[in-house]
Amino acid sequence: MTTLKEVKTYLNYINGKWTSASTADVYSSINPANKHDIVGRVQISGKEEVDEAVAAAKEAKNSWRKLSGPARGEYLYKVANVLERRIDEIAETMTKEMGKTFPEAKGETARGIAILRYYAGEGMRKVGDVIPATDSEALMFTTRAPLGVVGVITPWNFPVAIPIWKIAPALVYGNTVVLKPAQETAVTALKLIECFDEAELPAGVINIVTGPGSVIGQGIIDHPDINGITFTGSDQVGKRVGQGAFARGAKYQLEMGGKNPVIVANDADLNLAVEGTISGGIRSTGQKCTATSRVIVQSDIYDAFKEKLIQKVKEIKIGDGLQNETWMGPCASEGQLNTVLSYIEKGKEEGATLLVGGKKYEEKGLENGFFVEPTVFENVSNDMAIFQEEIFGPVLALVKVDTIEEALEVANDSKFGLSASIFTTNVGHMLSFIKDMDAGLVRINAESAGVELQAPFGGMKQSSSHSREQGQAAIEFFTSIKTVFVKN
Ligand code: NDP
Repeated sequence: MTTLKEVKTYLNYINGKWTSASTADVYSSINPANKHDIVGRVQISGKEEVDEAVAAAKEAKNSWRKLSGPARGEYLYKVANVLERRIDEIAETMTKEMGKTFPEAKGETARGIAILRYYAGEGMRKVGDVIPATDSEALMFTTRAPLGVVGVITPWNFPVAIPIWKIAPALVYGNTVVLKPAQETAVTALKLIECFDEAELPAGVINIVTGPGSVIGQGIIDHPDINGITFTGSDQVGKRVGQGAFARGAKYQLEMGGKNPVIVANDADLNLAVEGTISGGIRSTGQKCTATSRVIVQSDIYDAFKEKLIQKVKEIKIGDGLQNETWMGPCASEGQLNTVLSYIEKGKEEGATLLVGGKKYEEKGLENGFFVEPTVFENVSNDMAIFQEEIFGPVLALVKVDTIEEALEVANDSKFGLSASIFTTNVGHMLSFIKDMDAGLVRINAESAGVELQAPFGGMKQSSSHSREQGQAAIEFFTSIKTVFVKN
């Protein structure tokens, strides 16, 4: 256990310097596998620090945008190299701070490195098109202009990958950044920003301010010098960000919740479907926005699927994510554990049948952590909370259907539309699914949780503000098109 003396206090990073907040108040970021283990202390900043960070980003934006794309890309290559050198340390911090297993945390950090390199290369790719002008003496083309200062507000579930997939395109396309990370994973985010510091980005290009969403996040929403806000998190907070940004004419991008279905057709490969459902629904303790939570199974395969699923769920090894044998770590916080437990109670009250799990997990040695048993319900109907609302935990709701048409109808009965998958060997079913499933990411014979950094990512319906992140799609948010007409 960490003693009080050993706990480091992390500062904000503003205008190229590590600085204390004026209040000098701090909070402790704790390990969800053992609440007595303090990972670090973090500043509780106020509006003053938001103002300072925005002023620094505003001051830096003109010289940063004047650099060439390849020159900005060079900085991202440097950040990637530092992060690669520190991968084990940062992945371990992530595991300690939010509970995902060390291999997953390391995989996420490796992805962050790949994203940095992808966008570093993006600095050398084209940013416009030549369009024929009606005047034969003229040249007409498009180019791209950065937004200016971008506010980045991120959640705790991917504390390295999500900040990077917002910051890297923001920077390479010529914007400067103020990051507000989730409080649960602020230490991981601060270590990530240390990598930018080590790569010696010019002062003010990247800034981080820690503290509560209601103050720092709101400060970003309201600040007149922030030209664009990119947000990932819950739909409640996302709506607030969107309304606030819209009200003052700032550009915004929201990636929010999901209630992602998997359809298992009668002709599915049973083992693949069970593996994909468990991996998609329960890995990372179900705390992925693309995690499977509704499992819609055709009647002929239902019993065999259910039996195998339960058997496999019972084999899941729960524990501290730093232990080699652990497959599933704790919920990221006590609040998240309580949310999951309250949804399990709601499921029981509303008449769903609990097949496995359903309780806090308190085996010897784990009683101080926020562990929950992986849980499966059946007899779930479309009007139940566990069918409609995002739980963000390892809870699966089984629904039996007769036909693929019915499966698609059930799958689409949700306000969300982030990701969805189907397990089937029938090409007709695959094509219907691709055409009729309302989700931004549709996957065939693969789990619902899976995102490739070079492809566009984002949801339909209330999962997103309908823009896309990652890949080359990111340029659409982080720049504006400028049409140029040149006449000799
Ligand atoms: P929250 O919406 O609670 O928080 C997200 C961020 O917003 C945090 O940095 C938080 O700060 C900040 N925030 C909180 N209140 C405000 C406010 N009033 N104004 C401005 N900012 C605020 O989400 P979680 O961190 O709990 O993350 C889980 C959610 O994220 C899930 O719903 C999940 O689906 C979604 N998510 C979506 C993804 C996607 O790509 N679609 C990917 C990953 C997660 P603080 O920590 O201080 O509260």
